[in-house]
Amino acid sequence: MAPAARLLPLLLSLFALLPAGPPYAGPFKDDPRLKTVLAALPAWKAAALADAARRLGVPAPPEGAVTLVLRDAAPPPAGGYRMFEGAQFRTSGKPPKIVLTLYAEFLINGRFDVPAELAHEAVHAVMRHTLATGHDRVPEWVREGLAVHLAGQGEERIDALLTAPDHAESPADAIRPLAERHGLADYARDFLFVEHLRRVGRFEAFVRELMAGRGLEQALGEPVDTFETAARAFARAEITARAGEAHEAYRAILRASRDRRWEELAQFTAEFPRDRPSTRYAAVVGYFAAKAALFAGKEAEALLSLEAWRATPEAARTWCFDDGLLLAGRALMRERRPDEAAVQFERAVREFPDSQGFDTAAYDWGFALAAAGRKERATELLQRALASFPAHKSAVRARKLLQPAVPAVPHK
Ligand SMILES: [Zn+2]
Repeated sequence: MAPAARLLPLLLSLFALLPAGPPYAGPFKDDPRLKTVLAALPAWKAAALADAARRLGVPAPPEGAVTLVLRDAAPPPAGGYRMFEGAQFRTSGKPPKIVLTLYAEFLINGRFDVPAELAHEAVHAVMRHTLATGHDRVPEWVREGLAVHLAGQGEERIDALLTAPDHAESPADAIRPLAERHGLADYARDFLFVEHLRRVGRFEAFVRELMAGRGLEQALGEPVDTFETAARAFARAEITARAGEAHEAYRAILRASRDRRWEELAQFTAEFPRDRPSTRYAAVVGYFAAKAALFAGKEAEALLSLEAWRATPEAARTWCFDDGLLLAGRALMRERRPDEAAVQFERAVREFPDSQGFDTAAYDWGFALAAAGRKERATELLQRALASFPAHKSAVRARKLLQPAVPAVPHK
């Protein structure tokens, strides 16, 4: 036997010893980005669970107690389009069936730091494993605050809050009362509330009591109302202090964009990085520079801006990265480069099903392919967009494009 042939059975037997990633046969199965993540997943999962258990001061769940499930966020094409509205990473179930659900799109689109997301979900999984049915009594702000804190995602959540257009006018007001229904904007608050416990020296005792199954008030060591008043004052002060002077300049950018004052937007975005290159807002400003150029009719400049912005490692994590794909597609359409535009729209549709502009991208992908002369595929995509989003503003144009040419009526 040749040496290579002798090695093969040995290699195969070694391979069988490695824990496999979750099974997956969806549209991204051959995507090298997904293959890379899948190969690393078992080791990431084991490390995340061990780390979460150590930080929570409890034994790690045994092998097999937490199952990874990999799905597609977008339904198969035959089912039409559907915007994804759930949590991009999710832990559910009770021991012995705790499930961590992952979606292929969010493992590859660059928006998420996957090991950090696994560290976050591992905190949920360990809490579920240890507390079992008692987990239901733990309020959501405690679950999320601990998960964000222990996964090291606090700064990122505060950045998200401070750069989000929704909270720009008064970011401290995003620190909402605990009695209100938990929403996506509350992770920064949850983190800061837990951070407050750490600052006053009560974090370790809180975690210990909580993981021993005690109620919230007992774990906090004071009435919840008293805690909330102090934590809220701390969180508001933190947000205000972190917003800083740069936030005012950033707010001027958001307002100029909202009011479609493109010349001012171009001026503000040019000035911003010069004066404040290393602030949390700098990662978003490149997007607004491109937007200003595009709406002022400077397509080539917009494309250059987008290219420079997307080359920065921070860009993919911003709330506007997916909208950057739409801007690039639009600039390329105006430059009469529909094939390249289609690539941008396709990426937006396939990899960002949770995007606010998902329906727009679905239409624009079809329009770009129609302009590129790929009639059959364009028809298929526009029909799918119409069936899924019939009330969208692009629907009229799509219906017109799909109408068969009216045969000329001969004159009598
Ligand atoms: Zn969570």
